[in-house]
Amino acid sequence: MNDKIVSAFVKLCKMSQPRLKEYLFNILKNKGLDPIDAPGYLYAEGSVPILLTAHLDTVHSQTVQDVCINQNNSLVWSPQGIGGDDRCGVWIILEILKTIPCHVLFCEDEEIGRKGAIQFVKSGICPSVDFIFASDRRGERDVVFYDCDNQDFESWITTNSYFKTNIGSVSDISVLGPKLKTAAANFSSGYFSEHTHAEYVDIEIMKRTASELSKLIKNHKIGTFYPYTETVYAYNDEIDTLCEKCIKWDDFFRVCRCDIYTDCNNCVMFEDCFDRFDDDNDIELYKPLKDACAGFKPIKQGGYKLWDCRVR
Ligand SMILES: [Zn+2]
Ligand SMILES: [Zn+2]
Repeated sequence: MNDKIVSAFVKLCKMSQPRLKEYLFNILKNKGLDPIDAPGYLYAEGSVPILLTAHLDTVHSQTVQDVCINQNNSLVWSPQGIGGDDRCGVWIILEILKTIPCHVLFCEDEEIGRKGAIQFVKSGICPSVDFIFASDRRGERDVVFYDCDNQDFESWITTNSYFKTNIGSVSDISVLGPKLKTAAANFSSGYFSEHTHAEYVDIEIMKRTASELSKLIKNHKIGTFYPYTETVYAYNDEIDTLCEKCIKWDDFFRVCRCDIYTDCNNCVMFEDCFDRFDDDNDIELYKPLKDACAGFKPIKQGGYKLWDCRVR
């Protein structure tokens, strides 16, 4: 049933970041848009003043070679790391664009400090849009607003869709919202166990997210602008001070991540941290895959676990 969707999605997953950027440029061009291909981002103005954004990079160091799909075509993963974070977001945007000509922004290098989003806000391009949507979060049915505290925006979303407010750390919209002075929301897109080689994508959730977001956008009255309103915290900002170790990890937001990556002596390199996570034999991470695939058999090969199952 999902054959076509799976192959279109897998095609996105197998592309390197530059190749994907080129591919999307051509898609936007073929839609009659006039995309701007600049260092760090790909941007195109549509006729509906809503900005959809996704990032083009993944945390995985290898491009996807082998793709495993479970028996009923509903779960997809790869020994190289499928990169549903954020290829799910890219797929969802392409799906929404089929019926709603929104503005789109594809950013590079979100995983290494939201570099592309920063390059975009520095470019001087400042689209006048009603709000910003991203789909770059694990799981299903979460919506996160980070430090954007626009109550009207939040309640419009939560009363007109199945998404429920949750909390998150940072993503590209943490840069875009404040700089474009526009409210922004990030939605679950159907990837799980991201930032590990056990990452997998639930195709049904990805599909549902695209239709739920399309429904929400169609419910919106064009011209109703939701401004970015900064959350006011009760605690002192000085608590989030820089630490020697993490200064390069998150210098943009000045947030120390040592608490999360306790066993990592050098948080500068993402892959270092994540590979260590993978190597610690945390079988719990792989449990959903084990349950999903009858032929599942974890084996060690070259430091990574691989799966003995149907490979495409
Ligand atoms: Zn992401
Ligand atoms: Zn990520």
